Amino acid sequence: MKPGAAGIIALDGPAASGKTTIGRMLAARLAYLFFDTGVMYRTVALAAYQSGVDPTDEAAISALAEKIVIDVLPPADGDGRTSTVLLDGEDVSWAIREPVVDATVSQISAYRRVRAAMVAQQRKIGLRGKVVMVGRDIGTVVLPEADLKVYLDASLAERSRRRFAELQSRGGKQTLQEVQTGLARRDEVDSGRDLSPLHPAEDAVIIDTTAMTPEKILKKIESLFENN
Ligand code: C5P
Repeated sequence: MKPGAAGIIALDGPAASGKTTIGRMLAARLAYLFFDTGVMYRTVALAAYQSGVDPTDEAAISALAEKIVIDVLPPADGDGRTSTVLLDGEDVSWAIREPVVDATVSQISAYRRVRAAMVAQQRKIGLRGKVVMVGRDIGTVVLPEADLKVYLDASLAERSRRRFAELQSRGGKQTLQEVQTGLARRDEVDSGRDLSPLHPAEDAVIIDTTAMTPEKILKKIESLFENN
């Protein structure tokens, strides 16, 4: 890393490409903050579900996103959570991982006012530096000044297998096929939206993690960062 750099690492990629696992490990090794921006969009989707707001009602969802208070804190419990997420003070760290949230989160994430509200908060946190920020548009929109931009990818089959195993370990009921269909649908919406679509930044390093162990991916990113 160049002397005087803020220490901002942007980690983007499709669902279940390893961003959270790698981002967390990388942040721990560097003693940086790990910030998963997906939890914020998930919290908006959960808030909509809980208050009965129709996910297709852009104005109502936008108003809700601007009203709720989302706090993302380091994991408070040793129960496998990657962050502790509060929605208006209530712990929703696990609720945001439910299939009802998966089903609507990409739709609500495409709304302009929703993105504006989330990005403003993310940028403020990211610019403090010493951060590994994970999402879809971190290198392209949220923190284009990042010192290192990595785009993690993997085949749909491998990503589905990883997500399926993760859900099973928490007692999830979805079949592998259902998980794969859900991921494919979410990727399609995330890549096809007009605002901040999922795509690698021009200066991002693309890593296909399909056949790589987490340790190998980490080594690669660490060496990219050191030699940056
Ligand atoms: O990363 P995760 O899969 O938890 O993100 C959930 C959803 O939130 C994504 O499918 C995407 O629609 C949205 N998202 C986004 N921009 C980000 C992070 C997540 O649009 N930076």
